[in-house]
Amino acid sequence: MKISEIFPSTLFNLPAGLNSRGEKFLYQSGILRTGETLTLFDLGVKLFQNLTEFIEDYLILTGFKKIMQKYPTFTDVVKEVTSPKQLPLFFYSFSSGGFHLHMYAIGEKKSYIINNAINYMLERYLRDMVDVGRGNEKLSKAVMIPNAPFKFFYCSSCGYSTTADYPLTYSVNTLLPGEEKPMERVYTPAKRTIKDLCEFLGIKPEEAVKTMIYKAVTEKEEEEYVAVLVPGSRNIDEKKLKVALGVQKVELADLETVERLTGAPHGFAGPCGLKGIKIVADTEISRMKNFVAGANVKDYHLINVNPGRDFEIDLLADIKETVEGDCCPVCGNRITQSEGIIIADWERVIYQSNEIEIGVLYLDNLILAMAEQHCDEQGLIWPEDIAPYKAIVIPINAKDENQINYAMKIYEELNKIMPTALDDRTQSPGVKFKDAELLGFPIRIIIGPKSLEKGVAEIKLRKTEEKVDVELDKVTEKVCEILGLPPKSDVEF
Ligand SMILES: [Zn+2]
Repeated sequence: MKISEIFPSTLFNLPAGLNSRGEKFLYQSGILRTGETLTLFDLGVKLFQNLTEFIEDYLILTGFKKIMQKYPTFTDVVKEVTSPKQLPLFFYSFSSGGFHLHMYAIGEKKSYIINNAINYMLERYLRDMVDVGRGNEKLSKAVMIPNAPFKFFYCSSCGYSTTADYPLTYSVNTLLPGEEKPMERVYTPAKRTIKDLCEFLGIKPEEAVKTMIYKAVTEKEEEEYVAVLVPGSRNIDEKKLKVALGVQKVELADLETVERLTGAPHGFAGPCGLKGIKIVADTEISRMKNFVAGANVKDYHLINVNPGRDFEIDLLADIKETVEGDCCPVCGNRITQSEGIIIADWERVIYQSNEIEIGVLYLDNLILAMAEQHCDEQGLIWPEDIAPYKAIVIPINAKDENQINYAMKIYEELNKIMPTALDDRTQSPGVKFKDAELLGFPIRIIIGPKSLEKGVAEIKLRKTEEKVDVELDKVTEKVCEILGLPPKSDVEF
């Protein structure tokens, strides 16, 4: 391939909104564009083909069968199973213009075939992957990239990771110190919010408890009202609340219902003296002492409220929004918020009494993550096996007939063995070198006046920047040696 024929050409001015270094290089090099959709151009298509070739070879080798589907589903396959003896079955298909690889393992008990396949395929090109928990038997495999759209929490000491809405089930057993003081009712006129209340009483939000009345709706459309308690400094996470209650839907009760159930207008609800309504408290409430809560009377709050003594908790669960600094449920250390992109999703489901392992590999995100992890200040550094072109031949001066002739000869010879590029542009050597680094060719073969005088070409490796002069008629042999390909004589017929 000649560099002058590549479309679109490399860019120096980048559009706004590109966050990561890898994304910028992919853009700059003309590998892809994101506009109305994701478009891969010449180099991107080559890269993608190399990647899918590796993936399909591996899947077929490990017993997967390829299917093609208009929409991804395993049900069509399961329908065709006539005897348990046919199981287990392993299938894969591509969707979304080939960017999503769907994998199914049907009927193998507690298998990790797909999980292992995803790990094997990804670990070849990526490092530092994180398994982010999304629920029971469900996780996303992510790579951390600053400013990327997928937010999750990460424990740097044990590697535990979860999305914000998935409960952290850690046990809280350390009671806050101090004596339980006598409960008292205090006048708090029109102090309906935690902020106003804290200002008025001169306390911190974590010394108050927020009580919200929720309507919970089960799958069978049965409705129940619950009082939900979280520390005043925290928000209720409705997704976690739904999980804790085991219901289909939760929503805040309307103001009339709040007044009917608590006996006071909105803003003065509290757990003490509530009748006929379940109290659901965040795990942290059980360790709090002498806190402030609504008195269920207009314009009044209670101080020195203590759980167990002043009210009973019916259900204790993690129902507050996860924030940075919360405890890791595995090791107890503080978790931090991280950003990244999802490379794969994995889950296990039961369908018609068959265990089905499902995996999706997002190849568009994989390319982005690879670019992010295989680059330096100058540009991309593709692993040799999936590089769109293994080598580029650069005549320093494309107007010099002698240089062009030698460059063409080497280019044509190499191209018979491996995809090779030739920089045939009349650009300055500086521009050509810069582009070659940006595009990430593993091997650069440079032909200039000085090297020709000595009868050699300079071979330069992108990964290590190592340089070696090689006699012009030994260049192909040397490149094969570097890439671990069989010597030239073995490939010719
Ligand atoms: Zn941990």
